Amino acid sequence: MNLTIKPFGRIDSKVLEYLREELHDMGEVSLSASQAVPDSFIQRNRDGQVQYLATEFEKAMAPEKGDRVLAVTDVDLFERGLNFVFGHATIRDRFAVISIARFGNDGPEKLLERSAKTAIHELGHTLGLYHDDANLECVMHFSEKLEDTDRKTRAFCTRCNAVAAFTLSRLGT
Ligand SMILES: [Zn+2]
Ligand SMILES: [Zn+2]
Repeated sequence: MNLTIKPFGRIDSKVLEYLREELHDMGEVSLSASQAVPDSFIQRNRDGQVQYLATEFEKAMAPEKGDRVLAVTDVDLFERGLNFVFGHATIRDRFAVISIARFGNDGPEKLLERSAKTAIHELGHTLGLYHDDANLECVMHFSEKLEDTDRKTRAFCTRCNAVAAFTLSRLGT
């Protein structure tokens, strides 16, 4: 498949290059021009921190080419009913978004690792996968907090991989 990475905000090129390499297993990865997070996006203030509604990014990516498009942003994200989310995607769309806002406090290595795991997780949803509640190490296990992300691997378990591989084969990888 063709995967486009779309930066929103100021994202270190090291993060983007790392994601590009890590996501190469899924297909051809290209980088779209970065843009500022639009003021028109729905926002809220939570404990003095501005958060953006995750689905706004998915809508904004409609013009982007690619079988799948991954937004990477430095602003904090939320979904209705949740305090925050590390990322978001829906199973029926080709769009996913991740935020690196909460990943950087434990050094650059952790930032890269968490970004990659979250990107693979959200793209997994767009490949037809739901959360894997049974497997703590599977990348499709839900991350409620950073410890969840740090504990799981960046790989699909055998069962999840079968679903992802089926979708990828249809997309011509
Ligand atoms: Zn998820
Ligand atoms: Zn799994």
